[in-house]
Amino acid sequence: MHSKPKVLWIDAVSCYGCSHSFYNYPQIKEILNKIDLIYHPLLPTKEFEIKSSDILIIEGAIKSNFLRLGFDLIDLIAKLIKLSRKVILIGTCSVYGGMFGEGILFNKEDKGKFYKCKDKIISIPGCPPHPEWIAYAIEMVLNDKKILLDSENRPKEIYSYTSHMGCVRNEYFEWKVDAKNFGEKEGCLFYEQGCQGPYTHSSCNKILWNEVNSKPRAGTPCFGCTEKTFPRKDLFKTETFMGIPANIPLGVSKRAYLTLAGVAKSLTNERLNKRLIDEDN
Ligand code: SF4
Ligand code: SF4
Repeated sequence: MHSKPKVLWIDAVSCYGCSHSFYNYPQIKEILNKIDLIYHPLLPTKEFEIKSSDILIIEGAIKSNFLRLGFDLIDLIAKLIKLSRKVILIGTCSVYGGMFGEGILFNKEDKGKFYKCKDKIISIPGCPPHPEWIAYAIEMVLNDKKILLDSENRPKEIYSYTSHMGCVRNEYFEWKVDAKNFGEKEGCLFYEQGCQGPYTHSSCNKILWNEVNSKPRAGTPCFGCTEKTFPRKDLFKTETFMGIPANIPLGVSKRAYLTLAGVAKSLTNERLNKRLIDEDN
């Protein structure tokens, strides 16, 4: 009988939110049955030992002079990466630094301490990442399938979208009809509530959370939690300059954006406006 692939899940500087997100994966038991989980900080596993693994999963950021499991964290990560076949970085902290420090692959915008190990790394940013994204990366590696990655080692299948794509408020975005408050059923959250959907690589509005919802669908702006700039200041503000967003939605030229926005603002979509009036009443 073949032995099961060895998976070692290590916590660096973490809040364990990424682990908790994975616990929400409906088929988690099937995945756990397929692997030999040699260590996880929260699930029942054997005592930690420095060991080789087929998949090393790293949750959390790195920091100098930080002890983890009795070892210097950065030395420990270096040893474990060397002893692993594939590395999956789970969460924005692990990929870019996020809330807690430096990432493994990047230090915010710059190359990170382990950038040289890029060839064996898969990045799954998100704070936390969706459980299906985590499961996707694990399953693809377990099944020896090729994952198409972008320049930051994120699977294209998940991160070639923006959170804006698939949002049910897109028509309001197009017609520049704004939600005035959090939680309103109608209106787009971009101009007045700081929604980062048009700048954020994620499939939150395609692969829904708990299979039912996403932040913008529920009336909360996307915070851009999958990005290297997360957490940014002024979470609920879209920077504008003379009424024009300082950053234009990804992939759109300023000229195209301004032309479309100008046309939309000069015209009215009666159906959308009626919905807004109905909601007020
Ligand atoms: S990415 Fe977010 S959820 Fe994951 S460890 Fe960092 S702060 Fe916690
Ligand atoms: S609420 Fe956000 S994600 Fe939805 S359409 Fe507006 S900008 Fe895009």
